[in-house]
Amino acid sequence: MFDATSVRREFPILDQQVHGKPLVYLDNANTTQKPVAVLEALDHYYRADNANIHRATHLLSERATRAYEGARGLVAGFLNAHDSSEIVFTRGCTEAINLVAFSFARPRLQPGDEILVTRMEHHSNIVPWQMVAQQTGAVLRVVPMDERGVLDLGAYEQLLGPRTAVAALIHVSNALGTVNPVRQMIEMAHARGVPVLLDGAQAAPHLPVDVQALDCDFYALSAHKMYGPTGIGALYGRARLLEEMPPWMGGGDMIASVTFEHTEYNRVPYKFEAGTPNIAGVVGFGAAVSFLQRFNLREIAAHEHALLTHASAALGAIDGVRLIGTAPERAGVVSFLVGDVHPHDVGTFLDRDGVAVRTGQHCAQPIMDFYGIPSTVRASFAMYNTEDDVEALVAGVHNVLRFFG
Ligand code: PLP
Repeated sequence: MFDATSVRREFPILDQQVHGKPLVYLDNANTTQKPVAVLEALDHYYRADNANIHRATHLLSERATRAYEGARGLVAGFLNAHDSSEIVFTRGCTEAINLVAFSFARPRLQPGDEILVTRMEHHSNIVPWQMVAQQTGAVLRVVPMDERGVLDLGAYEQLLGPRTAVAALIHVSNALGTVNPVRQMIEMAHARGVPVLLDGAQAAPHLPVDVQALDCDFYALSAHKMYGPTGIGALYGRARLLEEMPPWMGGGDMIASVTFEHTEYNRVPYKFEAGTPNIAGVVGFGAAVSFLQRFNLREIAAHEHALLTHASAALGAIDGVRLIGTAPERAGVVSFLVGDVHPHDVGTFLDRDGVAVRTGQHCAQPIMDFYGIPSTVRASFAMYNTEDDVEALVAGVHNVLRFFG
């Protein structure tokens, strides 16, 4: 049985006071805290193995290369990719999406072609597509959602047309918590020959992800949302598609040979990893994946779901609190408003009670526009959160209401 209280002990940062109150960290959709296993992997890498990879004959370089490529295998295993060469390391989820937009989509797009995204995308899965659309004459089409934050699959079906070149869909919404029926959406897209990218930044930390079972073409994820370091993430890409794609950045490590007349590119995935990569970050990412794999991911999901259900019910029952995003399938996130109090004031007040939440538009301005609001307060859960954390959040919100009356 999953035990959050003992897991907490593996996250030293959580054991501190802020403003004289015990820290209650509920900003996990923004970034998660790091367990000792990840901290030690980073420390060990720099103390014992630091060297550049893939290019030297000495032992440290061999060890660094082994650690780096070992992490690729771990990420591949975590996503159930067919082969580790289908994993490209990137600076994060944003860069993974940009890679697909610029290397996969841009060369294929013709004026009038359509790129399908949803109303609930993070800016990272909107702006790259707008950029390639501007460069190619393609247009962005948007799958609508309802008040609960549930996508309209009928509209999605209609929007999947002969001009649809690619669908880029968020797996779990960072602002609403909605878990989208991506397996079904992929099936519908593939029935029309449309390739699908999933933005998995908020799904991979909460749900078991199997890229073969999903049958997605691309899956983008971010280590720092999964207990790993910042500035590192990965793109899963179907081998056949990665093979067809040109590199999008040139430089060291992505080449097989270079003359002034011609460059032969390295094989996949190296052709997408130009320059010295974030080796320590990758090692830390691998350690985070190993850490996660110590647990039964379904038990973690159930634990977090219980916290979400408790928080949603307790907050929803408070007079003056409005929940934003009430889809039946949700993970990790509860967004809300407290009376007329500006979310930033709520956030500042909660912080004084030791409760760390995010306030703002959560890099999802079109969602805020949909609800006609500037921002929300967002509490987001991780494996180390407990019922006590939910109680502290709810008590903090009561304090806000008492103060602003
Ligand atoms: N997509 C979603 C749904 C996110 O929540 C985030 C981060 O907040 C991103 C993309 C961007 O991820 P990264 O910070 O790895 O670039």
